[in-house]
Amino acid sequence: MAHALTTAPLTWYHASIEPEPPRPSLEGTIRAQVCVVGGGLCGVATALELAERGIEVVLLEAEAIGHGASGRNGGQIVQGFSASTDTLIRAVGAEDARAVWNLGREAIDLIEERVRRHKIDCDLRWGYFHAAVTQRQLRNLRATARAYADFGYDRCRVIGGDAMRAEVLATDRYVGGMLDPESGQLHPLAYLRGLAGVAAFLGIRLFERSAVTAIDHGPDRATVRTARGMVEAEHVVLAGNAYLGGLVPSLRRRVMPVASFVGVTEPIDPDVADTLFKQDVAVADGNLALDYFRLTADGRLLFGAGASYSATTPLGLRRWLGKRIRRVFPALGGIRVEHVWGGLIGITVNRLPDLGRCGRRLYYAQGFSGQGVALTGLAGKLIAEAIAGDGSRFTLLEQVRHRAFPGGPLRTPLLIAATTLAKLKDRLGL
Ligand SMILES: Cc1cc2nc3c(=O)[nH]c(=O)nc-3n(C[C@H](O)[C@H](O)[C@H](O)COP(=O)(O)OP(=O)(O)OC[C@H]3O[C@@H](n4cnc5c(N)ncnc54)[C@H](O)[C@@H]3O)c2cc1C
Repeated sequence: MAHALTTAPLTWYHASIEPEPPRPSLEGTIRAQVCVVGGGLCGVATALELAERGIEVVLLEAEAIGHGASGRNGGQIVQGFSASTDTLIRAVGAEDARAVWNLGREAIDLIEERVRRHKIDCDLRWGYFHAAVTQRQLRNLRATARAYADFGYDRCRVIGGDAMRAEVLATDRYVGGMLDPESGQLHPLAYLRGLAGVAAFLGIRLFERSAVTAIDHGPDRATVRTARGMVEAEHVVLAGNAYLGGLVPSLRRRVMPVASFVGVTEPIDPDVADTLFKQDVAVADGNLALDYFRLTADGRLLFGAGASYSATTPLGLRRWLGKRIRRVFPALGGIRVEHVWGGLIGITVNRLPDLGRCGRRLYYAQGFSGQGVALTGLAGKLIAEAIAGDGSRFTLLEQVRHRAFPGGPLRTPLLIAATTLAKLKDRLGL
């Protein structure tokens, strides 16, 4: 049966860790210095960063912590931004581009530091392979490695197909790729729940099944309403991203919810896994409708693919993902795909994250464009710094101008047409 992606069934991530008791819903009126809307990685990281600065926080989540993209993603921690370094330089100028790129590096360090400090058990591992389907993608990766080196990060190594098959992945699907030792992978739901546990320990009040229905924000205060309660706060942080819907119409136009789908296989025979993965890397290819995959800690293949502008899970998803897996690893022809699900990624026109303010009291962060596992933590830190009185680093990203997606109500059909063309180009290697 096809389901709306916003109410899709739970994932292998949910099945692979201990269930959590539900948290209370908001009832009645309460006050806090900051009200965070959204219990994904961005909302929880923001709440945590604020609490660490002594600021009192309430977080409202419409469903349950991790219901959105943060509990459904590929678990890939990717260095940098989804946009090219040229786009970044065009957006903020050469000098600030280096500072912004360093923020991206900091986002990676933040994950490592939080996992270590709070002893979060989330299978964090380092090592990443950007796979090239075509020679053109391989040339682009060489340019990317050079651009990263210009920004001071020179640990990426581009290799051709033979070296790839000997050292990294046994597949004929790719003509080579770029190894990055400082990108990696984790179990995103375990990480998020670990952060939420620390947040609760620090006194943050977390409410679930508390969808925000309206926000009033004036010069002095903001009021956030749910069906049965209300929060009066000095500041509000919107972290609903692709799941936010039309709560703030001006934000909706700048972020496009794009569906991506994930399958998890039965455990693979360890000897077979060792012949396919010569290194324990997370992998993504360079196509627009990309494949991304990695081995889980218990030896399953977690394989994602997308993107699509449809808002429902396609029929035959298990078979479709099985076909994509076989295209990379024909040896896994008979493997059973045991879990499948979909989720929404928020993308922006230029693929840089959209951080900003509406008036003095309302902050927002959205549109991490497929790289939110790392960048959400950074967004939380920058917002907390700004609310605590130092917005200098927040401004580095706030200055990026984000255009609305073209097409108004017709934007989805237009995007489908544009993606179909891009997918055709992927297929033809153009
Ligand atoms: C299938 C898939 C694969 C992905 N793979 C990767 C990957 O491998 N690596 C990577 O870096 N990124 C990946 N991403 C993207 C990444 O998951 C996101 O960028 C990141 O999780 C965004 O976090 P967030 O907190 O901003 O939003 P979300 O995690 O979507 O959280 C938003 C939350 O806000 C809540 N909410 C919305 N509206 C309201 C309201 N009115 N009131 C209260 N709560 C509300 C929602 O219920 C939701 O829980 C993937 C995404 C998907 C869907």
